[in-house]
Formats: sequence, C-alpha cells, structure tokens
Amino acid sequence: MKKITIAIDGYSSTGKSTIAKQLAKALSYVYVDTGAMYRAVTLYAMRNGFVNEAKSDIVGLVKSLPQINLKFIYNDSLGFAEMFLNEENVEREIRTMEVSRLVSKVATIEEVRKKLVLIQKAMGLEKGIVMDGRDIGTVVFPNAELKIFMTASPEKRATRRYKELLEKGEDIDYEDVLKNVEHRDYIDVHRAISPLKKAEDAINFDNSDMGLEEQFNRVLGYAKRVIAEQKKDVQ
Ligand code: C5P
Repeated sequence: MKKITIAIDGYSSTGKSTIAKQLAKALSYVYVDTGAMYRAVTLYAMRNGFVNEAKSDIVGLVKSLPQINLKFIYNDSLGFAEMFLNEENVEREIRTMEVSRLVSKVATIEEVRKKLVLIQKAMGLEKGIVMDGRDIGTVVFPNAELKIFMTASPEKRATRRYKELLEKGEDIDYEDVLKNVEHRDYIDVHRAISPLKKAEDAINFDNSDMGLEEQFNRVLGYAKRVIAEQKKDVQ
C-alpha cells in the first residue's frame, strides 16, 4: 500500500502528540515528536549556560550546535521513541516546566530551526511518517498528503497539561501552566521564522469538546480516506 506523510501542527498542549502517536501505531507508521527535539536543544542550552530566564547567548549556542547530537530510540515497552541528547536519555528532563519556559525562546533561533528541519526532512524521505510540531505542514513537509491543524481553548489546554504534570509528580500551579501555554503560543505565532500558522490546505481541528477516542477516530478516518485516494491515483 502506498504510504503517505501526515503533518500535525497546532498550539501547545492540544494533544497533538497523543493523537499522532496513536495514529502512527494504527497505520504502522513512524511517529516523530519535533517538540522533543526543540526541548532537547533547550536542555543542552540550559545545562551549558547559554539560556536562562534572564539572558540568552545565541552566538554561543549557535557555535555549539555541531556538538548537539539528537536521536530517537524506540522503547518497546513504552510503545514510542524516546529522545536522546548526546547518547543520554532525556525524555523525562525535557518535559519539565523549566524547559517549557525557555523552549519557545530557543525555537526562535534561525540556526537551531535550520538544523532541526534538515534532520526532520531526512526522517520523512521514505514517507510512512506522522510528524507533529508547529511548522510541519508549512515548512518541513509542505507537500504532505494529510495536514491537520489542532486547536482548543487555552483553558482546556492548560487543564490537560496541568493534570499531566501533576501525574508526573511535578509541584506546579495551574495559573503558571496557563501562563506558560499562552506565552508559548504568543512567541510561536509571532516569531519571524516559521511562525505557527495553519497551512492553507490543512484541516482545522478544534478538539476543545472532544474526547480522545472521538479525536482518534476522526483523524484515522481522514488518513484512511487520503490513503485510499492515493491507491486510486496509482491504478
Ligand atoms: O510540541 P511541544 O509543546 O513539546 O513543543 C515545545 C516548543 O517547541 C513549542 O512551544 C515551540 O516553541 C517549539 N516547536 C517549534 N517547532 C516545532 C515543534 C516545536 O518551534 N516543529
């Protein structure tokens, strides 16, 4: 069967990765969480003193980019690929609020984006991929056969994220999470390079009032339809 490329973009904490993961599993496709890549670069930048709340040494970070090696390694028992930064599993550390506070700042740096987009494009060469992020349908795979743009109200998104972080044992405040979600959206939408925006040919998907099962069934339906259309094209 002909494989397609699926791009899922949208605002922070819209549940993109949950749906993208399930979809990839159902189709036996590869799933790539590009947010994890920006988070890993941010963790590297934090550890090496290039960014904190008060400053960012962009020149220093850009010079160090060749030293950053990113890899996804599939974890069988978890059922998804974990992020490795220079051979270290950083899957847990990249999800903290500390990283969330700084990641959008790092993601505005042109050289960082260039490096990551190049890796992402290479991962998609053989299709059969579900990739989620902010610029997948616009920059990484402008020719993706299926593009989905996910939205939901900031309060719904913050509530979901807050619950997730609580479950992970983080000591956090709901208002902080809401502020972080809104702040990241603002930077993502307003940055000069590859801002977050819906690709013209993307399906707008507001999941404010949808459960996971309904979201998954709808998205799987879109994918199956597009895959069936591809088959017709080859015949
Ligand atoms: O998807 P996630 O919320 O983990 O992404 C973290 C941050 O990384 C986003 O808020 C955004 O600033 C940045 N990002 C990006 N482009 C992508 C994926 C993530 O700029 N393709």
